[in-house]
Amino acid sequence: MAEFTMELNDEQKEVRDWIHGFAADVVRPAAAEWDEREETPWPVIQEAAKIGLYSLDFYAQQFFDPTGLGIPMTMEELFWGDAGIALSIVGTGLAAVGVLANGTEEQIGTWVPQMYGDANDVKVAAFCSSEPDAGSDVASMRTRAVYDEAKDEWVLNGTKTWATNGGIANVHVVVAVVDPELGSKGHASFIVPPNTPGLSQGQKFKKHGIRASHTAEVVLEDVRVPGHCLLGGKGKLDERLARAREKAKAGGERVKNAAMATFEASRPAVGAMAVGTARAAYEEALEYATTREQFGRPIIDNQGVAFQLADMRTQIDAARLLVWRASWMATTGKPFTSAEGSMSKLFASETAKKVTAQAIQILGGNGFTREYPVERMHRDAAIYTIFEGTSEIQRLVIARTLSGMPIR
Ligand SMILES: Cc1cc2nc3c(=O)[nH]c(=O)nc-3n(C[C@H](O)[C@H](O)[C@H](O)COP(=O)(O)OP(=O)(O)OC[C@H]3O[C@@H](n4cnc5c(N)ncnc54)[C@H](O)[C@@H]3O)c2cc1C
Repeated sequence: MAEFTMELNDEQKEVRDWIHGFAADVVRPAAAEWDEREETPWPVIQEAAKIGLYSLDFYAQQFFDPTGLGIPMTMEELFWGDAGIALSIVGTGLAAVGVLANGTEEQIGTWVPQMYGDANDVKVAAFCSSEPDAGSDVASMRTRAVYDEAKDEWVLNGTKTWATNGGIANVHVVVAVVDPELGSKGHASFIVPPNTPGLSQGQKFKKHGIRASHTAEVVLEDVRVPGHCLLGGKGKLDERLARAREKAKAGGERVKNAAMATFEASRPAVGAMAVGTARAAYEEALEYATTREQFGRPIIDNQGVAFQLADMRTQIDAARLLVWRASWMATTGKPFTSAEGSMSKLFASETAKKVTAQAIQILGGNGFTREYPVERMHRDAAIYTIFEGTSEIQRLVIARTLSGMPIR
């Protein structure tokens, strides 16, 4: 029987320290500049590519870590450096996972390398699912993909929004409706290759936080992609649609629940990002509390400050444990019978918001300025309770999973 251990093995520690070094030496020093510029930090992505930290190989290695801790460890360290820059580095992974999860071997081999480019010519990719009228309610998506049998092409029309790297990506992965009767089971994912006519960037959003990460609308007007750009292929899609139609006849609610379950596995990774930001703010607050003196003693000498730090650290450690549990379960094939993926994302993201706000309080006036990083970390932390399913949606998924009830 496997021995129970909470310790990272030597190889994991080495990788963690290597990522931490990059986060501390390259990412953190660049954070304030790119937050102000509100632009994609291409030179930092390139630095990451040069050392192999921005590459399919690296993420695949972490993804296939048999303990499940490779990805959460990577996310925590990079986002400890800076959330906006880190999302610019890992955002491509969202699209890559879309292809790895649904694509054929040939599709993976063709498109994923083009998502990353190489160290001399780095590229990014975008995953486009959300729409102006389909955020939490993914099933109400309207972007349509229609098959033109004569030309063996799919024709995509619609507007996507909130796409990380949308419009600046080399490769876009677009989720579209192929059968409107089936709700989210009638969706399919498509590759839109580089420079495909009809795809354009709409509005680029000016954001509250993670401002170094590019977020924009993606407009699709009669975008024609070859048949081989349907992820998984036509045969597999037709089989899946036939099964979904059968299930839909048996009860529509089951169709919806299945779609929610698929998001569960990716949520611990977002939880790990939140842990990274929370830990960064906590460390700043701890350092400040032990050096800043008022009334002739360090402010941490006041129980009111010390207890806040104790709570911050306790919650961060608890969040990490939930993230690690969910990641370990996902990797070792244990079913999320209590929505453990959603639990980890919910708790970690709410912790990040709370802890970063407390950090501002502990730094006093300095915490409120851009001279210190905690106000940026607090702005950044707000995203974790919104993307990859809001906190309310996580609670809904957890409650529904626990009760088996269609909670509305
Ligand atoms: C910076 C950023 C980057 C993003 N990146 C991507 C990306 O790369 N690709 C992509 O496809 N999407 C992306 N998103 C979209 C993101 O996933 C959505 O914003 C998110 O799912 C919420 O959707 P919405 O914004 O439409 O909010 P809505 O769904 O309109 O929700 C508004 C409010 O209503 C609440 N609410 C909704 N339904 C319920 C309910 N049933 N019960 C209780 N409360 C409810 C929500 O919790 C929220 O508080 C990104 C978003 C942002 C802000």
